[in-house]
Amino acid sequence: MRLMRIKRDAIAPARLRWVKVRISDEMHAMVLPGPGAPLRFETREDPVPGPGEARVKVAACGVCRTDLHVVDGELPSIAYPIVPGHEVVGRVEALGPGVTSLQVGERVGVPWLGYTCGECAYCRSDRENLCDHPLFTGYTRDGGFATHLVADARFCFLLGEAGDDVAIAPLLCAGLIGWRSLVMAGEGERLGIFGFGAAGHIIAQVARWQGRSVCAFTRKGDVEAQRLARSLGAEWAGASEDTPPAPLDAAIIFAPVGDLVPLALRAVRKGGRVVCAGIHMSDIPSFPFDILWGERQLLSVANLTRGDGIAFFNVAARAGIKTHTSVFPLREANEVLARLRAGQITGAAVLLP
Ligand SMILES: [Zn+2]
Ligand SMILES: [Zn+2]
Repeated sequence: MRLMRIKRDAIAPARLRWVKVRISDEMHAMVLPGPGAPLRFETREDPVPGPGEARVKVAACGVCRTDLHVVDGELPSIAYPIVPGHEVVGRVEALGPGVTSLQVGERVGVPWLGYTCGECAYCRSDRENLCDHPLFTGYTRDGGFATHLVADARFCFLLGEAGDDVAIAPLLCAGLIGWRSLVMAGEGERLGIFGFGAAGHIIAQVARWQGRSVCAFTRKGDVEAQRLARSLGAEWAGASEDTPPAPLDAAIIFAPVGDLVPLALRAVRKGGRVVCAGIHMSDIPSFPFDILWGERQLLSVANLTRGDGIAFFNVAARAGIKTHTSVFPLREANEVLARLRAGQITGAAVLLP
C-alpha cells in the first residue's frame, strides 16, 4: 500500500487542504478460468473493499480437498473465473464503509462460509450453514490463492497473535468442518476416521484430547499417513478395507470415496453413526440393509456456522492442536493440487503468497 498526497481541491474545490489517498498496489492470484483448466497466474488491481468488507493481505492459505473439487468442476455453479482457497490467514489491510468489528492490522482467518442472507428459514433458526443464498470463499466469491482478497467482515474470525500463520491455516476448513463432523458423530468413545489427511490428523488430536480412542483408515499401503496417525495417538491404523480391533461407536469419512460408506457402516456397532464430512463424494454403491439396520445412522455435514468456528478455535487452543504442514509457493498451486489428488500430501498443504 502506498500513500500519495493530492490536493483536496481536486475533490472538493471549496476546501483547499491536503488529504491522504490510498493508491492500490497490484495483487497476484492463481485463477481458475473455467472448467477443467489449470489455474492461471494473474496480476490484478488490488481489490477495493465495499461496504461491510475487509481487504485482507494473505499470509498463508491452506489447500483443501474442496479446492480440488472446485478445480475438477465437481461442484455446481462455480463462479468462473474464480480464485480458489478458503483456509486463509492474513491481516486486515483496509476496511470498507461500516465495518466496526475489525481493525486494520488485525490477524484474521477467512473461512469457507463467506456470506449468508440472514433472512431464510435456516439463517433464522441458527443453521446458517444451510443458508438458501450463501456465498462461499474460493467457490462463489474469490478466495485466498492470492496475495490479497476481499471478505465480508462479519464472516472473518479474529485469530489473535498466538501461533504461526502456516500452522493455523489448515484449521480454517479442515479443522472447522472436521470439528462440526466430530460433534455430529456424537459422544461415542471409539472413533474411526476414514481418510487421514488434513482434517483427519487435526480431528484425531481433538478426539484424543477428549479421551476417545481413534482408529485411522487410509488408502491401502499409505504408510506415511498410518505412521502420522499412530504418532498422534491412534490406537490402530490400517487400510480402509481392514477390520478394526473392535466395533466403532462412530466413524467420520473425510475421503470423497463413496465405497467407504458401506465399509464404515460395517465397522460401527448398533446405534452407531457414520458421518460423511465432505462436500462431494463419488457414488455410494448399493449395500445390504442389514449393515444400516440396528439404528445405525448415516449423516452428512454441510459447511459451517460462525458458532462452529468460535467453538473450534477455543477447543484447538486448549487441546494444543499441532498441524503437520507442507509449504509451497503460491505459484505452485497446480502442482500441489495434483499431489493432493494423487494422495502424495501427508498432513496439510499450505500456499505462501
Ligand atoms: Zn440464509
Ligand atoms: Zn475446505
